[in-house]
Amino acid sequence: MPFPIDRSSTRARGPLAVLLLGFCASLLVPGAALADRANPDTTFIETQRASVLDHLDGILASVMTPSQALESVSLLLLDRRGANAELGSRLSPTSLDGIETQDEVDRIFLSAIHAVSHAGVQADTAASPVELALRFGEHLGEIPGMGASPLPFMLLSLAELAVATADSMRRTPDFPETEAAKLALRLIHTATHDQVESSGNIVERARTEQFRHKSVLVRMRCPKDGAPYRTIDMKTKIHGNGDVATIYFLNCTVCGEAVTVDYVGEVASKLNRIADRQKIRGKPRPTPPPRRLDP
Ligand SMILES: [Zn+2]
Ligand SMILES: [Zn+2]
Repeated sequence: MPFPIDRSSTRARGPLAVLLLGFCASLLVPGAALADRANPDTTFIETQRASVLDHLDGILASVMTPSQALESVSLLLLDRRGANAELGSRLSPTSLDGIETQDEVDRIFLSAIHAVSHAGVQADTAASPVELALRFGEHLGEIPGMGASPLPFMLLSLAELAVATADSMRRTPDFPETEAAKLALRLIHTATHDQVESSGNIVERARTEQFRHKSVLVRMRCPKDGAPYRTIDMKTKIHGNGDVATIYFLNCTVCGEAVTVDYVGEVASKLNRIADRQKIRGKPRPTPPPRRLDP
């Protein structure tokens, strides 16, 4: 029986609740094998990762001042636009695979931009005069709302805005150029630091994971009519290999075509394997390879 996604959300529960839900629901999902598993363009992602890391090594070896760091951030943002344009010629930006690929590429650029801003902020820790900080904030204007955008996308948009603001302040005669760069860089660093470095808390990670899934689903469009999907149900299933998956049942809001998307939850899967190992204590069992973490 379908239940609305908001009430079925595990947002307010811990990962153990997700896990229990998984044990019960796994018995109830006969059609789960038909679900679509995201199949991102890994060749494209790995090419981008290698190129960004290569670029980053050079930047980190040479960044001496906040202005240089901001310049490098600006170049990385430009590279990211190029990557998105290239991706657009490989995959539809509203397909599950296209969205997943773009999000992963965004996470790569976000990590790199954080690393550069971190280095730039450390290169000059003296605080900017309050009066300049206030003027910078005024120029920055309204920070755009998040809408359906995932967090990395929003943070990258904020970085674009900070770079543009520094550019325009730099042209203001009585605004010191170095201060404009410092303020922009500090903003970028503050915004990106937590997102990139706070992956330790398991409950937070489970929530972030689920939020991320939903942010992908709302951007998907039906290939027939371009209409968005409505999520009508979600269930949890445990696969034979111990993966705990959340299955989202979607319907096109125009033609009604049903689509299912199967997401493996990293956090819930890890907990499930731990629980499993405790149950069969003593019996050796091959451990699955560790999942790669974001850089
Ligand atoms: Zn940092
Ligand atoms: Zn449709």
